[in-house]
Amino acid sequence: MPQPMIVLDHLTKRFAETTVVDDVSLGIDEGTVLTVVGTSGSGKSTLLRLINRLIEPTAGRVLIGGVDTATLAGDDLRRRIGYVIQGYGLFPHRTVAENIATVPRLLKWPRPRIDVRVRDLLAAFQLDPAEHATKFPHQLSGGEQQRVGVARALAAEPALLLMDEPFGALDPLIRGKAQDDLRALQRRFGTTVLLVTHDMEEAFRLGDRVAVMDRARVLQCAPPATLLTRPADAFVERLIGGAD
Ligand code: ADP
Ligand code: MG
Repeated sequence: MPQPMIVLDHLTKRFAETTVVDDVSLGIDEGTVLTVVGTSGSGKSTLLRLINRLIEPTAGRVLIGGVDTATLAGDDLRRRIGYVIQGYGLFPHRTVAENIATVPRLLKWPRPRIDVRVRDLLAAFQLDPAEHATKFPHQLSGGEQQRVGVARALAAEPALLLMDEPFGALDPLIRGKAQDDLRALQRRFGTTVLLVTHDMEEAFRLGDRVAVMDRARVLQCAPPATLLTRPADAFVERLIGGAD
């Protein structure tokens, strides 16, 4: 069997005495969405930070297309992994266009190529360039900021998109639309996504596979239907009980 595009291999992180990510191994096939669901404090954000090496693992490896990310320099890593942090993390003093251009500029793309990419992304995310390109984040609605955050993460065509509770701050009324839009764009671009959420319904709705995380460990990683029909243990069963 071919290796999945993304492989987490016995990934572990300890802070002093506390194990925050405990021996996590899983794979994500190219062009699919893996959602990681767990309660607050279960280690989801730390898992993402390990994958993009904002923090170094205590043990274990992350492979992208067979390449160990420990061997990649900063720019190589930024090109391969897009990251939407909790709360979007837009630069407040940069315009929408400048925010989206952040990584391509770091990578020293030629200006015309950056301009074309920014325009394409604005259009793909239903943000009229004439109206929005020169606005600052505080002049946007929550939903628009969220879309700019995702557009920025996708700008350099990463092999993997990491999303940390990307819809958490959205009004419930527009959250469903934002989820549908993300799924449509993901299919169109064929992006490989790892999305973290504490919302079981969201995890089941968006994930081709769902990893259930609790107290630093992944208890089960399977397609939604399998989790419902064959939960690994009574704990998983109870946890997903309210999802359908
Ligand atoms: P989640 O995103 O699932 O809510 P986090 O990954 O943010 O969980 O945190 C998991 C646990 O790790 C929490 O108990 C948190 O306090 C702890 N933790 C996170 N970062 C650090 C750190 N830099 N030093 C010590 N403990 C940390
Ligand atoms: Mg978190």
